[in-house]
Amino acid sequence: MTADTTVTVRVPAKVNLQLAVGPGREDGFHDLVNVFHAVSLFDEVTVQEARPRSGRPDGSTSPGEGPLLAGLTANGHSVSHLSRVPLDSSNLAAGAAELLGGETGLGRPVRIHLEKRIPVAGGMAGGSADAAAALVACDRLWGTDLPRETLLRLAAELGSDVAFPLLGGTAVGRGRGEILEPMDSPGRYRWVFALSPHGLSTGAVFGEYDRLRPDAPAPELSTALSRALAAADPVALGRALTNDLQEAALSLLPELERTLATGAAAGALGALVSGSGPTCAFLVGGGAEEASVVAEREAAVVASLEASGLCEQIVRAEGDVPGVVFM
Ligand code: ATP
Repeated sequence: MTADTTVTVRVPAKVNLQLAVGPGREDGFHDLVNVFHAVSLFDEVTVQEARPRSGRPDGSTSPGEGPLLAGLTANGHSVSHLSRVPLDSSNLAAGAAELLGGETGLGRPVRIHLEKRIPVAGGMAGGSADAAAALVACDRLWGTDLPRETLLRLAAELGSDVAFPLLGGTAVGRGRGEILEPMDSPGRYRWVFALSPHGLSTGAVFGEYDRLRPDAPAPELSTALSRALAAADPVALGRALTNDLQEAALSLLPELERTLATGAAAGALGALVSGSGPTCAFLVGGGAEEASVVAEREAAVVASLEASGLCEQIVRAEGDVPGVVFM
């Protein structure tokens, strides 16, 4: 069999159905209970074998390039979002390739291309998704063929949110979010996402959380949420959505409050800031509801958000969806 010289992987964004944040730990992280839900908003990551760099037969690298990264390009429909994507070895996708290459000793120079649909610095873990995708794609490209448990371990090393896109579906993350357990969630749901023209730095939002909640209790999985998911009850799910970081995100970007209120007033079953924000997520139905009822609610929420002029872009999606897939 000839080895692939190009591999493309599609990877979903996530929204947090619950994000419970404990007090800051000594290592700088927070203990979390993080319910991840993969939604049909995808990045595509392509990795391609690269010839050794011309003019550098010794394989030397220039500053900013990792030893394996021969080039990184990104494309996507939002120019403002794309401008925040680093095109050097600090890109999380490049980090994943370097880690896999280093771990196995089998890495070869690679070009990485990102087709970005997931908002950048939007609280939907787009960078982590790209890292997960690059890990899986390079594993195929280089024929390293690591067992799933090893890929999950490497993903967790890369970042708290990197392991989840390998699983997809709906799962609870504990520890700093990387200890994953799939949840019983038989329902399918429709979501509307309001993308902000601004980015929010995850670190800044956690910093604001620490300032606002120095007394944060230990995080616990919400029973109401687990029950709503198991029963595929969209109304109960809407009520059970919670995000401890929301107050901090609103404190840094107060206009998000109006975005949330606009979607809620238009009939969304639930409205919350996704992760560290600033993307706002609106649950508009699902489970056993009539498709026409959901479609009507969805149209009303989209129309109100559009009329508000508060959002850079409004995206419809469904969840949950599977994790990384080869194209
Ligand atoms: P999270 O939800 O995990 O907090 P996020 O969705 O808010 O993350 P990302 O889109 O993952 O944020 O990007 C955070 C920062 O990481 C960006 O501002 C960017 O500088 C950097 N970054 C590195 N690699 C990538 C990538 N492949 N895609 C997007 N951003 C990246």
